[in-house]
Amino acid sequence: MKSLASLMASSAVVSVALCSAYVATAQESLPPVSPQATAALKKIAALPLVEKAMAAILRDDALTLKDQIDITEIPAPPFKESARAADLLKRFKALGMNDARIDAEGNVIARRAGTSKDGRPRLALAAHLDSVFPEGTDVKVKRQNDRYYAPGIIDDSRGLAAMLQVLRAMNETKIETVGDVLFVANVGEEELGDLRGVKALFRDAKNDGKPIDGFISIDGSAVWRIVNAATGSRRFKIAFKGPGGHSFGAFGLPSATHAMGRAIAKIADIQTLKEPKTTFTVGTVNGGTSVNAIAADAELGLDMRSDSADELMALEGQVKALVAQAVVEENARWKMKSEMNAITVEFKLVGDRPAGSQPLTSPVVSAARAATSAMGIEVKAIQASSTDSNLPIALGIPAATLGGGGAGSGSHSPGEWYTPIKAYEGPQSVLLTVLGLVGVKTVGVPLLPLHSPK
Ligand SMILES: [Zn+2]
Repeated sequence: MKSLASLMASSAVVSVALCSAYVATAQESLPPVSPQATAALKKIAALPLVEKAMAAILRDDALTLKDQIDITEIPAPPFKESARAADLLKRFKALGMNDARIDAEGNVIARRAGTSKDGRPRLALAAHLDSVFPEGTDVKVKRQNDRYYAPGIIDDSRGLAAMLQVLRAMNETKIETVGDVLFVANVGEEELGDLRGVKALFRDAKNDGKPIDGFISIDGSAVWRIVNAATGSRRFKIAFKGPGGHSFGAFGLPSATHAMGRAIAKIADIQTLKEPKTTFTVGTVNGGTSVNAIAADAELGLDMRSDSADELMALEGQVKALVAQAVVEENARWKMKSEMNAITVEFKLVGDRPAGSQPLTSPVVSAARAATSAMGIEVKAIQASSTDSNLPIALGIPAATLGGGGAGSGSHSPGEWYTPIKAYEGPQSVLLTVLGLVGVKTVGVPLLPLHSPK
């Protein structure tokens, strides 16, 4: 298995990280692409209408970049995506999607109907509205030679622009698909957004009796990389509370900061697995009121991640036991007789992204590989990450996160930059993948099976 570093070094293209670290699957260990998907995509790519749509995407390369820049310059901090959502709604309508709407959670959804009676197989093609950057961040795009600098220029303005370009090409050429395609600009991918956008999308679709059979998120830029597994995360605020008191006069009382320190020391020694990769960190600490006061309050922020749902739950169980033990030790240290003055601890779940995996031969991954290979592009890595695809993957719905084209670096940093090198390959490969999955009317069978919830 190649390391991610060597994989990146061996690639001519600079790549941008998505919203989390990657586990790379070396190309040589990938199973062959399914012959069914290869045959279907070859047929689809050769259709005159599809050739026309692919040419339109190439022709509109500069327009897609302009969309990307314009979208980047509309701030969209977590939970404050509404201005960018309103912009996307306008763009969907301008592309002829008159029924486009904003749902109760804030997602912008435009349904492009297929020819099948019930609209199935139904595929959602999404990109996320939110960026990690807080209100007040300078989001003006600055150009230096062939690089465009701005926070969020790739993550996920590239995804949004690529999604719009796929829709533009499909509508211009009037390609008729068998299944419905839901074009979605969703909220809540980053940080404490906790996938609230896609959670609402799948919940509402199910409740409305219009279940979604497959999902693609366009996030990041590299077209040679497919995310097919979900790195799950659980995040907690862990609050320690005690009586507090004067450092001299009340000496002998237990301390909230000391209890937290004991807990952190125990957490720091936890051993986790390399495979499936499982990680933790105490990312933040807060507490105390004064240097000469026994602390009454202390709080830590803990992030735990794993590619395996079982490992993640096991790690959480271990942390909870260790923290409880730390509190017992702090109280015992001061021989607390009365419960009243003892340190207590409270766990507050502030982040929950499901982990999960699907076979490397999943329909969405197969279609994406066959699509890129029909374009002469080799997929170099199939990886786990933390993206909007986490949710459908955990629900057992085929899903993948694909790149929007071009290259760049510095995702989640103020120095994020993008260069539109072969940028059109993003929307082109996504278009072919979508057509393979929902099927084109004249050439038959969609690759995406109907999902029946367990
Ligand atoms: Zn992203």
